[in-house]
Amino acid sequence: MTRTVYADHAATTPVCRAALEAMTDYIQQHHGNPSGLHSSAQAAKRVLEDARERIAAAIGAKKNEIYFTSNGSEADNWAIKGAAELRKDRGRHIITSSVEHPAVIASCEHLRTMGYEVSYLPVDGHGEASADSLREALRDDTILVSVMMANNEIGTLQPIEEMARLCKEKDVLFHTDAVQTVGHLPVDVNELGVDMLTMAGHKFGGPKGAAALYVRQGIKLPPLIHGGGQERGRRGGTENVAAILGMAVALEESIRVMPEANERLTAMRDRLIEEVLKIHGAHLTGHPERRLPGNASFAFECIEGESAALMLNYRGIEVSTGSACSTGSLEASHVLTATGMAKELAHGSVRFSLGHGNTEEDIDHILEHVPVVVERLRSMSPLCNCGKKED
Ligand SMILES: *Cc1c(COP(=O)(O)O)cnc(C)c1O
Repeated sequence: MTRTVYADHAATTPVCRAALEAMTDYIQQHHGNPSGLHSSAQAAKRVLEDARERIAAAIGAKKNEIYFTSNGSEADNWAIKGAAELRKDRGRHIITSSVEHPAVIASCEHLRTMGYEVSYLPVDGHGEASADSLREALRDDTILVSVMMANNEIGTLQPIEEMARLCKEKDVLFHTDAVQTVGHLPVDVNELGVDMLTMAGHKFGGPKGAAALYVRQGIKLPPLIHGGGQERGRRGGTENVAAILGMAVALEESIRVMPEANERLTAMRDRLIEEVLKIHGAHLTGHPERRLPGNASFAFECIEGESAALMLNYRGIEVSTGSACSTGSLEASHVLTATGMAKELAHGSVRFSLGHGNTEEDIDHILEHVPVVVERLRSMSPLCNCGKKED
């Protein structure tokens, strides 16, 4: 019997049934281009605008503050490069954190080549950046701060409200990458006080191909794609209506089940953490409490995360090591090294990210195989003393 335990929901999630049904119905019944004049076009337009309204409502935003993009990386790029362009006459200083997703870091690094200056907020051993460090980093020429709500590798939550408040006092734009948070924890743009926020449908049960950038009313973010009048002239191109509808339905569904789902996920996560930490030389990465309900991430001494992920895959357990985007390169995770972890240990990182489909039996299966895999890898490494009996 082959059992597959998918524990890589931070990379992407399966499409939830409600979204799948809504999308299938839509594709079967509609074909119009929302920009047209005739009835087919207007029918598509109604579905698109209804999805916009529902997504806005789910995060406490207004309908005209939601801009659809194809994925989270696109929304992150737009927010950062757009804000830099919008505020370039006020200054050229940008602040972000040292544990951001590559879509944010690479956008900031691109801006650096264009004459902007970028400050990276340090994080503590749990991966948390502090509002105090932001206060110190803010300057008169700071135009933008971008700090993620929750980290994709280690699950740590950041003090976004406090940071956004500091930025508001100084009239500095504040963007948050909430790709791991929307659909997983309650998110309200007004309670948070953010100016821009990124979400991506495929991280909460929607399909790939639909994401959104929230832009607070009054912020005249320059267009990302010049073209037709789509997205109020800021992102031209025919909209992926079916995927956008799927994202709206998935978001409502994930919010509906959130209290119960998070109770279940947290219990499974905590059991996984407790048991895995019994393995000699296993370390929890990220914050012990302030972390995503589904994230259990570790670093194992004396093993390569890649080898562990491949051996786990062979045993029907699908996980990630470091961030999916850095897989294939031999660089240690920038997130883990930012927490002060030694490179050798960071190379042994394995992330389990649980989702709605996971069960206690999945955790049993993981817990049966992880110690075996760790031990086997260590036994193949002659220089390693980990896991061998300590006297
Ligand atoms: C997945 C992810 C992204 C990128 O989203 P894509 O839709 O894959 O482009 C950005 N930020 C975080 C925190 C993510 O987890």
